[in-house]
Amino acid sequence: MTASIGVSSFPEDGNDAQTLLKHADLAMYAAKQLGKNGFQYYVREMSVSLQNRIDMESHLRSALEHNEFVLHYQPRISLDTDACTGVEALIRWHHPKLGLVMPADFIPVAEECGAIVQIGAWVLREACRQNAQWLADGIAPIRVSVNLSARQFADKDLRRVVLDALKQSGLPGYLLELELTESMVMRDAEQAARWLSRLKRTGVRLAIDDFGTGYSSLAYLSRFPIDTVKIDRSFIRYLPDSRSDAQITSAIIGLGHQMALEVVAEGVENEAQLDFLRCEGCDEVQGYYFSHPIPAADVTAFLAGHTAHGLLPEQGPQPMRAPASTIGGTAS
Ligand code: C2E
Ligand code: MG
Ligand code: MG
Repeated sequence: MTASIGVSSFPEDGNDAQTLLKHADLAMYAAKQLGKNGFQYYVREMSVSLQNRIDMESHLRSALEHNEFVLHYQPRISLDTDACTGVEALIRWHHPKLGLVMPADFIPVAEECGAIVQIGAWVLREACRQNAQWLADGIAPIRVSVNLSARQFADKDLRRVVLDALKQSGLPGYLLELELTESMVMRDAEQAARWLSRLKRTGVRLAIDDFGTGYSSLAYLSRFPIDTVKIDRSFIRYLPDSRSDAQITSAIIGLGHQMALEVVAEGVENEAQLDFLRCEGCDEVQGYYFSHPIPAADVTAFLAGHTAHGLLPEQGPQPMRAPASTIGGTAS
């Protein structure tokens, strides 16, 4: 057991016991947020940030009804064919007062208060609807990737939500990819393996996002029915100059290919990074070098310049179950 301690003092932080305890409590939560097993003194900003959080929570709950969310799409490019093979759906919030709010500023709050389950279901429906619309418009089939949150992954209705989104839109499952992070699947790997298999049976593709930032048991990774690993952009940023990042990137590409996974590099911003990834045999890239995330209406024009080769269900490497003993161990 560890202890997190919050400290408030009389009279600066309050004149009565109730206020002092409330402020000590806030300071304790701050200590927990800073990694637990420590202490924090109360400062006024803690109350302000709590109030902001409460405001955001109440707005988040009504944002869906008011159609304030929108999806932008960032293209993914094959290094083999230079064609766009898919897009990642990234949520944005048009807040009536704050303007455009990025996911990092509201997804954690939505996750904590549980609103993420409804928001995530909307993202799935909207991304499938939009991709089915592109198909109906005669665009060569591309995949749409959707980020799942930890709470959504643990939600027992997720499989039904995915199936409903596919059914309502008419989108074939192989054109939807669900992105999960290492921490989500490694928290309880046995259970995750079962949940991933259930999800996989819906016909969708599964990807591990931000790969390399968490702790993965390689033995488990080889047993999960995943199709894709996305190398976190923190390893791509200083390529090709950073020797350690270059080594890690090459190792992930090699590992992914050993497991018959498709390897995608995130956050590619310049030609030098691209050349390195091409030389190392990375399959696909995503990043500002090709395009920022763009509204759905701009995707059609982007695709016209990056002819999609038209994905078929049987295309793309299928995950191979390598024996755990050959690649056993733990990597971070
Ligand atoms: P992610 O899934 O790893 O998405 C990639 C993020 O990197 C996006 O940020 C994208 O705009 C940004 N990015 C792409 N290329 C570059 C580049 O070349 N340079 C730099 N510096 N950044 C690049 P965004 O859209 O702000 O999303 C941040 C995170 O929020 C996502 O990370 C994802 O974890 C989460 N997120 C976004 N949409 C959703 C959603 O619908 N549901 C859930 N649960 N999470 C979401
Ligand atoms: Mg992602
Ligand atoms: Mg990522």
